[in-house]
Amino acid sequence: MTSIESHKKAKALKPGSVRPAKELCSECGLCDTYYIHYVKEACAFITQRIDELETTTHNRPRNLEDENELYFGVHQEMMSARKQEPIEGAQWTGIVSSIAIEMLNRGLVEGVVCVQNSKEDRFQPMPIIARTPEEILAAKVNKPTLSPNLSVLEQIEKSGMKRLLVIGVGCQIQALRAVEKKLGLEKLYVLGTPCVDNVTRAGLQKFLETTSRSPQTVVSYEFMQDFRVHFKHQDGSEETVPFFGLKTNVLKDIFAPSCMSCFDYVNSLADIVVGYMGAPYKWQWIVVRNDTGKEMLELVKDQLDTQPVISQGNRKPAVQQSIPAYDQAVTLPIWAAKLMGVVIDKIGPKGLEYARFSIDSHFARNYLYVKRNHGEKLAAHVPEFAKRIVGQYKLPK
Ligand code: FAD
Ligand code: SF4
Ligand code: SF4
Repeated sequence: MTSIESHKKAKALKPGSVRPAKELCSECGLCDTYYIHYVKEACAFITQRIDELETTTHNRPRNLEDENELYFGVHQEMMSARKQEPIEGAQWTGIVSSIAIEMLNRGLVEGVVCVQNSKEDRFQPMPIIARTPEEILAAKVNKPTLSPNLSVLEQIEKSGMKRLLVIGVGCQIQALRAVEKKLGLEKLYVLGTPCVDNVTRAGLQKFLETTSRSPQTVVSYEFMQDFRVHFKHQDGSEETVPFFGLKTNVLKDIFAPSCMSCFDYVNSLADIVVGYMGAPYKWQWIVVRNDTGKEMLELVKDQLDTQPVISQGNRKPAVQQSIPAYDQAVTLPIWAAKLMGVVIDKIGPKGLEYARFSIDSHFARNYLYVKRNHGEKLAAHVPEFAKRIVGQYKLPK
């Protein structure tokens, strides 16, 4: 019996049942399929394999001596970009949706794994295999909750599809790469986004109710480079709340334990990554990791304005200062937060230095979380690049 046949005997877990990674499960969807057969080697929270899978995926390891690779992973090039004609209602300018549509229209793939929302709830993720541009467009904008994108993997094998694009975040992509060879595909393309601080649907509700003036009308939000959360509301209005004014004492438990233990912020195993944090405000940030990623970017290059990435400022003092705040969940009064936001905005880290600020602060917080809550996992679970990054700071005992 081939391995492709043997996994079909495994049984998907029932919705709501405890997952093999227990409280650390990020609900990536793998265990909703018979690919649960491979969970021990595929789950990002049972066996962390970023270093090894980077080499198999990109044909070389991350160069830890190069600061940009240490932080942003294996790559050929980075740039800031925006669509000349943004897609209305996309999270940013819609580069992700545009790449997916081009790949489908040009016949490079037969389907695209992406995530729409349920009819009743705009934030309830509903993963699908899109076969038309309309279905891809209906998946635009972040569903800022844990999303079981890989729950559609069984359908791929059943459909007989041979060429596939998967859009996803780091934990989903690690599991996908681990089972890639078992999917029976001729070609897999992976389009990733960065991801951090994700929450369950219930956690999201708590965040919206604690932070926004009108939680029921929020359509999307983002933690921006100006150190504020920007909420977009149904009527098109925008609301901003400074990070430093967030009620961290109330919010400290809302992030999912998986996301407090995650070190794959930049989606190391995707062929190309599209985010925003290394780019100027209102621009997106593209990291091309390998030749497949380059092929994907070429498809939309004529729809984009691009400019080189920049890096300004010095993040390190701000990161060091933020560590005790993360640790003790302190909140500054809102007026002090506003003032600090303005000062940081004027003199603070910009471009790639802002991205490093965000990576440093999240890795330091997550390192402390794993050390305190899952100390036995610390050595194997934290990838070498993250150990080096965290090692630059003085952490509390
Ligand atoms: P669009 O064209 O609007 O397409 C969005 C795509 O995202 C869709 O194809 C959809 O299938 C997919 N998607 C939506 N929700 C999810 C989900 N929960 N899981 C998997 N796939 C999903 N970028 C940064 O630079 N820094 C960050 O800190 C950061 N945090 C993020 C946190 C989360 C939870 C998510 C989902 C994304 C985050 N991003 C971050 C990426 C960024 O917000 C945008 O998604 C990205 O720049 C693409 O924008 P776009 O306009 O091209 O996407
Ligand atoms: Fe399974 Fe994914 Fe949860 Fe790991 S994170 S236990 S692979 S559903
Ligand atoms: Fe997955 Fe990490 Fe994003 Fe959480 S923060 S959803 S673990 S990639």
